[in-house]
Amino acid sequence: MHPFAYAVAGDTDEAVAMVTADPDTSFLAGGTTQLDLMKDGVLRPERLVDITRLPLKGITHTDTAIQAGALTTMEELAADPVVRERLPFVREALLLGASTQLRNMATIGGNLLQRARCRYFRDPAVAACNKRTPGSGCAAITGAHRMHAILGTSDHCIALHASDVAVPLTALDAVVHIQGADGPRSIPLTQFYLPPDDTPDIENLLQHGELITAVEIPLLPERARSHYIKVRDRVSYEFALASAGVALVIEDGIVQEARIALGGVGTLPWRAWDAEDLLHGSRADAAAFRSAAEAALQGARPLPGTAFKVELAKRTLVRTLETVAGAQS
Ligand code: SF4
Repeated sequence: MHPFAYAVAGDTDEAVAMVTADPDTSFLAGGTTQLDLMKDGVLRPERLVDITRLPLKGITHTDTAIQAGALTTMEELAADPVVRERLPFVREALLLGASTQLRNMATIGGNLLQRARCRYFRDPAVAACNKRTPGSGCAAITGAHRMHAILGTSDHCIALHASDVAVPLTALDAVVHIQGADGPRSIPLTQFYLPPDDTPDIENLLQHGELITAVEIPLLPERARSHYIKVRDRVSYEFALASAGVALVIEDGIVQEARIALGGVGTLPWRAWDAEDLLHGSRADAAAFRSAAEAALQGARPLPGTAFKVELAKRTLVRTLETVAGAQS
């Protein structure tokens, strides 16, 4: 591993100032992505600023939302009684997102910033990776890309966004609160991530030195039901081939409210706006659910290795919709 200096920040302002001042300095929280990438030689910071002692841990509740400090672990968020009761698909995505050991170490802020799982990105011996080395090409497009994205891709990168919990959080219009050298700001998760386009190295709106301090998660209406389904090659310790996070309010067989996002298929957590529009006011039946799934995958651009994902994602979404609708009947 490339040698690095280590510092502990005393407060949030100091942490932000330390990282902002030096492009080769990074934050260190749970480290479950960062240390892997450093060991692999993908990231080579000169200094890490440990933020784990900052007061960014814990969950607060209001009548309409919960706010999780960025250092809240995945396990702590999954165990929160309000998440369990009012946001079951968030809890399911957290529990399916990582092993118990990782959930006890990984923070919610870090989870949202996890890097691409593309094997070429994580192997510096491979020259062609636009995300790691802008302008170098993309080895995955002509290489092994079975685990890659089919929505939001570009000719420069097809890497998948691998977070599970970001899927229901995107469906819920969660907001990330950020602290930077110029002060705080907040960004809806639906706008936070950037598609690769011709700059795959720029993954989100966070500037160097800005720190996610909290995630605000709106609650669903009490009459809503939600569910997260993740389809993968094995039942544990594996990323999604396709996943769906769905919340529905159904009254008298009619969909009053639909929130839908997909995982395992997009270069970012994929909000299925077209599917939601189609379901609003429609009957909650198999035909409508299939039409919604067709709409959700309309823009898919599969490659030979990912062609199977189109139908898989549709069926995953239909099954999730049917499960949620069944829970309301
Ligand atoms: Fe790099 Fe993206 Fe291509 Fe993977 S898919 S090799 S991360 S440019």
